[in-house]
Amino acid sequence: MTRAPRDASRAPPLRFGTYPTPVEPLPSLSNASTGLWIKHDDRTSTLYGGNKVRKLEHILAQAKARGAERLVTMGAVGSHHVLATAIYGRQFGFEVEAVLVPQPRTDHAVANVRAGLAQGLRVFPVSTYAGVPPRVVSRLLVPGAFLVPPGGSSLAGAMGYVEAAHELASQVRSGQLPEPDLVVVAAGSGGTAAGLAAGLALEGLRSRVVGVSVTPPTALLGAYTRMLALRCLRAAGAPDEDVPARLSLEGGYLGAGYGHPTQEGADATERAAAVGIELDATYTAKAFAAALDLVGAARVATILYWHTLSTASMEPLLQGAPQEEALPLGVRRLLL
Ligand SMILES: *Cc1c(COP(=O)(O)O)cnc(C)c1O
Repeated sequence: MTRAPRDASRAPPLRFGTYPTPVEPLPSLSNASTGLWIKHDDRTSTLYGGNKVRKLEHILAQAKARGAERLVTMGAVGSHHVLATAIYGRQFGFEVEAVLVPQPRTDHAVANVRAGLAQGLRVFPVSTYAGVPPRVVSRLLVPGAFLVPPGGSSLAGAMGYVEAAHELASQVRSGQLPEPDLVVVAAGSGGTAAGLAAGLALEGLRSRVVGVSVTPPTALLGAYTRMLALRCLRAAGAPDEDVPARLSLEGGYLGAGYGHPTQEGADATERAAAVGIELDATYTAKAFAAALDLVGAARVATILYWHTLSTASMEPLLQGAPQEEALPLGVRRLLL
């Protein structure tokens, strides 16, 4: 006889990603003293990859265990998290709703919101961040709702990256890559960096995590990320690890703010493209710029850049999607 889990945050995860994701050296972007490597979480799924897949495996399991029927989340209009929640939430039988805020218009952001609508995402546009909480609360009051926090960075979501750190540790142990001194990853809501820092500590690896902030204020993001890493450790029964020594937030690549492209990001995007790696302006261009600079500046042997952007084709997801001109007016107004 099986008993229902007492704590729904411990529900066994659903599985819809493909693991382990490969690791690969980037010799042409390394130098004599420091090797740069990449962890391909762009390839967590051929339907839609990136870093939201591992998080949603845990979050959707928790929502199912709670008996929820409708996911309520929030994000910028072109959010990867909102799109991933729409795709996988619908696949597992949930209705999916998102309160959306403005961001600078890019073709990438437009494609994301079009694809979300094509998956049956229900959108609630608001013009300012201050407008988000009342709208979210009103959707949560309707029975059957389950809150998925921004970026999927709940404890359950971050536990997906504790697991990812275990996956990396077995790749290190089997000799697929040297033990990284630094793991560099984009940090938007912090769950990825938090889970990795906790998981690497649990594995006893010496790797430190550098979260490259794409969301101001970086100090607040850092505090939230460290707290979440501690909660992951506590959930795993090992609360005594020294999180501050394991996890730092780098605020120097943010530029004018969330979703605003930077020159360093554009340069990094060009250098990445030369070795076949695709980056986006909001997250991965800034993180990769930091990783490239660290290759020159950090006196360490091995740096692992953790790639978080889906590289799955958007074409199947855009089938039947409204054209940009046909987007609801409230949505078009969010594309600044
Ligand atoms: C969401 C996202 C991130 C940030 O992950 P967090 O866990 O929110 O910090 C990084 N890169 C990409 C491409 C993302 O979509």
